[in-house]
Amino acid sequence: MNEKNTVLLEETFKEYYFNKFDLIHVPPRATEREFGYQKINSGMIRHLSVKNDKDLHLLLMREIPSDVYCSNAYYNFPALPMSEKDWKGADLIFDIDAKDLNLSCRPEHTITKCASCQNLTEQQSPCVQCGSTKFDTVSVGCKNCISESKKEVEKLTEILTSDLGIKKEEIQVYFSGNEGFHMRVINNDYESLSSHERADLADYIMFNGATPESFGIKKQTNSKSSLPTLDEKGWRGRMARSLFTSKSKTSKITKEIISGGYSGFQLRLEEIRKTLGVRIDPKVTMDIHRIFRLEGSINSKSGLSKIQCTNLDSFDPFSEACLLGNDEVQITANCPIQIKLKNKKFGPYKNETVSIPKYAAVYLICKGLGSAV
Ligand SMILES: [Zn+2]
Ligand SMILES: [Zn+2]
Repeated sequence: MNEKNTVLLEETFKEYYFNKFDLIHVPPRATEREFGYQKINSGMIRHLSVKNDKDLHLLLMREIPSDVYCSNAYYNFPALPMSEKDWKGADLIFDIDAKDLNLSCRPEHTITKCASCQNLTEQQSPCVQCGSTKFDTVSVGCKNCISESKKEVEKLTEILTSDLGIKKEEIQVYFSGNEGFHMRVINNDYESLSSHERADLADYIMFNGATPESFGIKKQTNSKSSLPTLDEKGWRGRMARSLFTSKSKTSKITKEIISGGYSGFQLRLEEIRKTLGVRIDPKVTMDIHRIFRLEGSINSKSGLSKIQCTNLDSFDPFSEACLLGNDEVQITANCPIQIKLKNKKFGPYKNETVSIPKYAAVYLICKGLGSAV
């Protein structure tokens, strides 16, 4: 990132850390966690110990990081190298990202840029300006992506509460600061799970690896089928409610399923996996040494903040998580799609110098669609 952009971003982030410190707290059991951060144009610094909010505040004001992270894991010695940390356990965490949901709206708000000269381009052919064939894509805010991601959060919450005995108040939901949601489970029963066990749990949540046999459909047609019923717990019940929809339709649909045979059921299973399976990033859930974006901090992919969603239904990240200053600044903006932040519309801009509030200027610069003048 060039010098002028870095100065504007750091100045705005510093103001945020100073003014909004009431939003940025260390999580519970802070002394047992590893912290890390990144500054603009530099690598990750990790294996840090931050004891309390005051320590954190000092770190933020001194370093002005672009991104701040904290481990989901608990250690005896969080500031030592990984092999000497002495792992004690980790919160169960989940990452739901709109870019992984294969949504049909994605092409409408994804912009392709030449990786070397930043020229915006329509298709992935050599850049007309510099001939480079390397491209970056960047996606700007989309309401549909957020509402589809919220549906995944709701599906996951339902599975965690009904199948795993986790209480609703033990599940914290956060907007990730860019295009999705993070979830954290605070429950001692799950803290000690190994990475392997978390991978199995992720498969369960995603409904991976389900076979017709688990739902009573066998390969031999002469053996009796024992299809799930509507009131069963777990995936069998969820599957039954999706297949039969109501008690009155059960016998008719049962006949259809039996006559469709094993391979017919496999197809149904695949369809249902796509709608009922939760599309989490399994790599995040199975990682027991991860440093995860700290709640309250800024996500430098967008300049929006990672904040807790107390009312998921009504939550609008483009106003509620857009917390940077309103002072106007001048930037050169090159954004072919109109964006909406704090209920104000910006753009589209065609490589023009504009005077816009800092929060919008930072958003465009973070997305690589604007440059400070
Ligand atoms: Zn180019
Ligand atoms: Zn979208």
